[in-house]
Amino acid sequence: MDKLAVNGGRPVRETMLPYGRQYVDEGDIEAVREVMKSDFLTTGPAVKKAEEKLCEITGAKYGVAVCNGTTALHCACMAADISPGDEVIVTPLTFAASANCVLYCGGTPVFADIDSETWELSPQAVRDSITPRTKAVIAVDYTGQPCEYSSIAGICEENGLTLIEDASHAIGTRYKGRPAGSIADMTTFSFHPVKTVTSGEGGAVMTDSYETCDRLRLAAKHGITHNPKVTGTDDLWYYEQIELGNNYRLTDMQCALLMSQLEKLSLFARRRKQITEQYKTALEDIPEVILQREYEGSDTVRHIFVVRLDLSMLKAGRKQVFDALRAENIGVNVHYIPVYWFPYYSAMGYRRGICPNAEALYESIVTLPMFYSMTDGDVRDVIAAVKKVIYYYRTG
Ligand SMILES: *Cc1c(COP(=O)(O)O)cnc(C)c1O
Repeated sequence: MDKLAVNGGRPVRETMLPYGRQYVDEGDIEAVREVMKSDFLTTGPAVKKAEEKLCEITGAKYGVAVCNGTTALHCACMAADISPGDEVIVTPLTFAASANCVLYCGGTPVFADIDSETWELSPQAVRDSITPRTKAVIAVDYTGQPCEYSSIAGICEENGLTLIEDASHAIGTRYKGRPAGSIADMTTFSFHPVKTVTSGEGGAVMTDSYETCDRLRLAAKHGITHNPKVTGTDDLWYYEQIELGNNYRLTDMQCALLMSQLEKLSLFARRRKQITEQYKTALEDIPEVILQREYEGSDTVRHIFVVRLDLSMLKAGRKQVFDALRAENIGVNVHYIPVYWFPYYSAMGYRRGICPNAEALYESIVTLPMFYSMTDGDVRDVIAAVKKVIYYYRTG
């Protein structure tokens, strides 16, 4: 057996393979250059074009581009009227922003556990977490795989809750034929460089409701309206601030990049699906490696590929496996530390143990590299390194 790099052996590859990275081509650069020579660097036509393209891709009626995925979530919570005293149900297996947005509005995040096989927010846990104060549910399409929306949307409807889908991982994903963006009351995206499409920083909120779209624009644009029906005058210079909004605008440069990237979404999606299949085929027969279960009706464009280790079958813990893979020059990562484990949350009174499935999953997962421009050779390196490390540490 080959000596592990962590023990002084030769690594599977010579250079570090990152877990994610953007793909920017000459067309993207040219699109940004064009905008830089135009009359508008912000609030111009490129913003509207990108919003329309997002509507076309997701099937949503309205889209509001904002400066990142975090502000998209903040706007969604503002549009859902989250206020002090309101509870919002959210998965702990996510980036902190999915819960922080509730706090920005003075609301209380209530963490509901994941399903231990699909790793997505459990519909039963959502049901069990509802109280008279619950106002909304933020469901995260973890890894890009959709949540079980038939159940979750039904629960929200029965209980009068707003459903917000944090689809930061899931642009291009479909659930029972419907694209992410056309399922929940509001859907948010992130266009950070590690995500499937990027505008540097960037985000958006999608909705089918005209009223909600209005609220989102107020949240993202200082709470200011120019609408004569609201202000009662058609004086051209006149506008009113009617609530406390923010400046969360996305620039025209970024929207031009976003537009150009969105035109490549089907290309990006196809490659991510290919890599997923290559990983699945190579790893599904390794008993120490457990893969995320997909249910009927999910057609997933994956942002990350996460594997769970069956630690009972290994002589090493997750940390040792992680360090060994890094030593092989595979840029593995971990998504995510349960949000309520962070000191900021524990200081508010959240205790460990409230979501046992998410905590157990966190202790045993590793994220493998995945991005559009990964070559088949890169994929083979990852698979070779996983096998090398797992075979070395297996007990059997
Ligand atoms: C990336 C991400 C965000 C935040 O997006 P930013 O654009 O980085 O602000 C929110 N939720 C999830 C699940 C994410 O992966």
